[in-house]
Amino acid sequence: MSGGIKQLAVDCIPPATLAAAVAFWYFAPAAWVENPWTLLVVSSVYTAFVLGLELVFERHESWRINWQEFLTDLFYFVLINTVIAKMVLVFSEQPLHALKDSLGIATPWFAALPFLVQVALLVFLWEFGQYWMHRLMHNWEPFWLTHAPHHHITQLNAMKGAVGNPLELFLISLGLIALLDVSPAAYLCAFTVTGVVSTFNHANVRSDPPMFYAFFFTSIRHHSYHHSVGYENTRCNYANALILIDRIFGTYKEGEGIIVGQDERRRLSIREQWMFPLRPLIAMFQGKKAEGSVTGN
Ligand SMILES: [Zn+2]
Ligand SMILES: [Zn+2]
Repeated sequence: MSGGIKQLAVDCIPPATLAAAVAFWYFAPAAWVENPWTLLVVSSVYTAFVLGLELVFERHESWRINWQEFLTDLFYFVLINTVIAKMVLVFSEQPLHALKDSLGIATPWFAALPFLVQVALLVFLWEFGQYWMHRLMHNWEPFWLTHAPHHHITQLNAMKGAVGNPLELFLISLGLIALLDVSPAAYLCAFTVTGVVSTFNHANVRSDPPMFYAFFFTSIRHHSYHHSVGYENTRCNYANALILIDRIFGTYKEGEGIIVGQDERRRLSIREQWMFPLRPLIAMFQGKKAEGSVTGN
């Protein structure tokens, strides 16, 4: 295969994976759709696939995964798919279902729409909420303190989208889709679509998808730019999966980041990531203590 054709094939891996994921849910038997484990199996399969691609089609040597990065990422992958998913269910989706029932909200017409139309609408609604939450996180200090740990990662890999402070992981998972009646397969498909795109846009894979994909979906180029060093450079390309939303709201920026991280690019430990939002409080407390010891002298 000539170099150009080979690179085109590599560039088309993200759209091909996305198409395979959509086809999976479209053709999945009802028993698979109803099985609560299927989503986790699907997420694990495409994540393992993209991790494998990192070994074959590496983008940057400086992002090459090692055991410390892999085990940290795996910890967060498990966390987001178990504890965080459960918290979102209990504190957001179940109350919204109850509200929907008590208010008598019903949208049977939505579940009757063609499968792909439902998936497209769900992805748009989901991403629209995530976009504004993410933009808020970059524009208001209390929310930035929850999101900053995600920006302190110093390299990008397939599971890095799951790395962050637990409070942020919870906040960014909130949405109002639970108020709609949707077909379960379309719901799971939309969730998988955003997951596949987010996995590729954090991965150390040298795929730069063609415009038929990159005009709508966030690519590694878009998202690595969002991870650039320097807070001001991060304030663009907010969309997790649907970069189209940045194009609509004027926050799209063309470019790519290779050196990623924040401040002096020190890698944070899991403990530091979890304690990060408390930094101003700790600094205040330490300041008071120092003041006390000065006056005490
Ligand atoms: Zn961000
Ligand atoms: Zn990210």
